[in-house]
Amino acid sequence: MTSNGALDARERDAMLSRLAAERFDVLVIGGGITGAGAALDAASRGLRVALVEARDLASGTSSRSSKLIHGGLRYLEQFDFKLVYEALRERDLLVSKLAPHLVKPVSFMYPLYKKVVERPYVGAGLVLYDAMEGTRRPVPHHRHLSARGALKRAPALSPDRLAGAMLYYDAQVDDARHTLTVARTAAAHRAVIGTRLSAVGLLRSPSGEGERVTGARVRDEETGRLLDVSAEAVVVCAGVWTDLVHELAGVRAGYRVRMSKGVHIVVPRAAVDASTGMILRTEKSVLFFIPWGEHWIVGTTDTDFAGDRAEPVATEDDIEYILAAANRVLARPLTRADVVAVYAGLRPLVDPALGNGSKPTTKLSREHVVDAPVPGLTSIAGGKFTTYRLMARDVVDAAVADFGRDLGREVPGSVTDQVPLLGADGLAAVQPAAGRLAEDYGVSRAAVEHLLGRYGTLAVEVLDLIRDDSALARPLASGHPYLRAEVAYAVTCEDALHLEDVLMRRTRLFIESADSGASVAAEVAVIMGRLLGWSRRRRAAETRRYLDLIEAECPVAAIGPAGSGAAGSGPVSDGALAVAT
Ligand SMILES: Cc1cc2nc3c(=O)[nH]c(=O)nc-3n(C[C@H](O)[C@H](O)[C@H](O)COP(=O)(O)OP(=O)(O)OC[C@H]3O[C@@H](n4cnc5c(N)ncnc54)[C@H](O)[C@@H]3O)c2cc1C
Repeated sequence: MTSNGALDARERDAMLSRLAAERFDVLVIGGGITGAGAALDAASRGLRVALVEARDLASGTSSRSSKLIHGGLRYLEQFDFKLVYEALRERDLLVSKLAPHLVKPVSFMYPLYKKVVERPYVGAGLVLYDAMEGTRRPVPHHRHLSARGALKRAPALSPDRLAGAMLYYDAQVDDARHTLTVARTAAAHRAVIGTRLSAVGLLRSPSGEGERVTGARVRDEETGRLLDVSAEAVVVCAGVWTDLVHELAGVRAGYRVRMSKGVHIVVPRAAVDASTGMILRTEKSVLFFIPWGEHWIVGTTDTDFAGDRAEPVATEDDIEYILAAANRVLARPLTRADVVAVYAGLRPLVDPALGNGSKPTTKLSREHVVDAPVPGLTSIAGGKFTTYRLMARDVVDAAVADFGRDLGREVPGSVTDQVPLLGADGLAAVQPAAGRLAEDYGVSRAAVEHLLGRYGTLAVEVLDLIRDDSALARPLASGHPYLRAEVAYAVTCEDALHLEDVLMRRTRLFIESADSGASVAAEVAVIMGRLLGWSRRRRAAETRRYLDLIEAECPVAAIGPAGSGAAGSGPVSDGALAVAT
């Protein structure tokens, strides 16, 4: 393991050997933001840590969110003050210290239509929202706008009934890249991170009066091989799969996870003329217009879900609902022809009523719950992307609580509030050097700025690949900022094993390009194949695998000209987990 936390897909065998040979303090099941956060939390306390992820890092909910790092203005209305307070503190810590290269401030306009009633109400909420922040404010205060001021910032709004607006600030992130960076930072602290490794059973040993969970049996989804990973404590961070992992242990935890589906559509930036994000109140919740490079992400929905967790798919109704909600305020309505992509994700909500289905999912708390149903096994569910660091702290605290008594080792407290993610350290000194870097490496300044915004100071590692092979400086897909070097880097440092890892999560071409990245799939296979030793036949098979995946998950005909379903594929489906102890 190197100090830059490189996850080199070419060294998978060495990673598997370590998993099988070493005894770990903590084994994390699940490589979404919660699991990656738990791995970093535990590793930075000096513990020996392993993480197994059944598919790819962030392939579950953590690549399908609204991509906001926010306090959640609407939770104030639900009197969830603790959640909002904690989330705002986390937002500010991420923007200012832990991940300034990844988490960036973004403004939102809240149009007002009932001036007399709404302005004092929303204004009071925003005063509270701003007041809950710490004293160091990395994002500006909210502001009041007149109707004219609102239209100046968002000419796309219909002037009908518009009485004014409020402008406030939150932050946004590429959720998949953030998750990967947290996992890499854990690797830099010597955690072993393994993907395409499904926990299919839990190991148990006699202990004291009863039994203790002492690791997991893991299936390598690339080869079908089984291996046992031993650990003093197993931590389950499996999102909407949590109940299934509990079943592996034959335990009933003190909570169940209720799945709520959220759908977003992606439309070109030019389809909505506005220089700020927007948030609208809808009948059931809120609708965001989130600026995303050359696009807007518009969503979301919130409906109970009971299908296949690995492939939540957007329905006709979901798309129609979002378009109708957006068009209530737009002067030029969005149509199906504007929709570049669609994606769906599942919120892992904790149902205190043990899943009796009584409460609508919009009303369920976004707070998290930790449980230790049997010795050696701890699990966490619920929460938000924004609060992952606190979730990680809480679940690791619970997992190591008996280490002092049982193992004679006291474990120090969490230090992740002082651990900037890889790429953050030294950023202030590298950003002004963008022009010089562009000259030194013979690429455009825009390319360097693009890399700095995604890799922070690690951008230099991507540029070094270009120095060795100038063909990698070429754009991957025309009209998109990604470089070929990013594909190579995804293999050598970001554990990309298949095309979907690169096209869906290391880059976001799946949701940003009208063909979901199909036209560059063969080229990606060539770059990856050169590094991973793929034959011509294997390259063709990998390309076909990606094309099949987007076809299967992309109800194009149903959704529109370039729609796509949820990202994600692979072995984990509801039936994939066999009970084995
Ligand atoms: C539509 C939508 C919008 C959202 N927007 C926001 C937002 O803007 N801001 C915010 O803060 N939060 C948001 N959230 C919430 C946030 O995205 C989730 O809380 C968070 O991503 C959950 O992360 P997780 O790691 O718990 O779950 P996941 O990301 O789903 O990770 C669980 C992982 O466990 C793996 N796994 C499952 N079973 C096994 C096994 N047996 N062995 C090994 N691995 C296994 C899965 O493959 C998966 O990768 C949103 C959620 C949705 C659905």
